[in-house]
Amino acid sequence: MRNMKFRRLERYRTGGSRDNMELSYPIPRSPSGKIYQYSPNNDAVPRLFLIGDAPEERKINEEDRVRIRREPGPGQTVCPYSGYIGDDDEFVHFDDVEAIKKQVEWEAAADISDYLADMAKDFNRRQPRNSFISFKMDVKPSRSLKPLVIRQDLLRDMDCNICNRSYGVYAISLFCPDCGAPNIANHFKREINLIKEQIVIADAQVNLGKTEIAYRLMGNAHEDVLTAFETSLKTVYKYLVKRNLIEQYESLCTKKAIGNAFQNIARTKEKYNQLGINPFNSITPNQLSILSLNIQKRHVIGHNLGIADEFYVELTQKEQPGETVILLGREIGEFADICGDVVAGLEKWLYSEGNLDILPIQSLVNTVSEQ
Ligand SMILES: [Zn+2]
Repeated sequence: MRNMKFRRLERYRTGGSRDNMELSYPIPRSPSGKIYQYSPNNDAVPRLFLIGDAPEERKINEEDRVRIRREPGPGQTVCPYSGYIGDDDEFVHFDDVEAIKKQVEWEAAADISDYLADMAKDFNRRQPRNSFISFKMDVKPSRSLKPLVIRQDLLRDMDCNICNRSYGVYAISLFCPDCGAPNIANHFKREINLIKEQIVIADAQVNLGKTEIAYRLMGNAHEDVLTAFETSLKTVYKYLVKRNLIEQYESLCTKKAIGNAFQNIARTKEKYNQLGINPFNSITPNQLSILSLNIQKRHVIGHNLGIADEFYVELTQKEQPGETVILLGREIGEFADICGDVVAGLEKWLYSEGNLDILPIQSLVNTVSEQ
């Protein structure tokens, strides 16, 4: 086997000797060109995310420097769900390690099989033609198929608005995996754009005379705003409790303790008050009442088939009890924008680490109760 050649393996050789090759295999990529990453942080939920390419030339705006947690580029990765920072190697996905091992095994076996087939051919060629006894060497090549690796993109495809790195996450994440800047407002902007597209589709149904379908589509778009808003408020809250009130995390963040608190303005204020934050201080009182009205509207549409109840009528002074709650695309868009402003306001608490400790909690509590 001295002059045996590993033709396939040699293609990936980056160093070492022929007896002890150093190989470098490309990591499998998803259809959009991203690679799997697995957060090494046990507390991250979920742990899988995808990381894609970034433009070669990147420049962080000076005013955004306060947001980033590391200079973007190779070396370290940030868990987008938990904010944990570690060396790039820590984030390698175990499925990729396995996939590459399988590929190396398959290629080594195929190279050996080729070598034996060549050897047999050579042996057979050397046999004397008319001798009394003849030998023939027969090598059966391995029939196993080359391992196939499939990597799928995640539904939430993102581009960091600070460092331009592309990445993919499940439902929602807080940070860019490259520069570590909070990306939740960026996430929410993406939701708003999708919701506005839904409104355009619903409006088109009205023009076709399909009013009931249009009403349902509008209802779904309206619901999606509240779902995205609730998820964002909950995700930021849980992160901040873990960061600033770790010893209370178990009691404050159980499913029971949170419930649907973030579908309700007063309860949201109460929850954030525990952290000394007023989550609504980035919007005007008028915007807060529009927000409140829409949350109420959501309950009527979701639980009462869109029929206004007495409580809702008292709040809006518009519809009569028993009438269908009016849903206008423009109003849903406004509701989404206000939610986006609240999320953008909350985002600063994710990078102003330590501020919560510096600011006297009591004065913040007073600010909250004044609103
Ligand atoms: Zn970034």
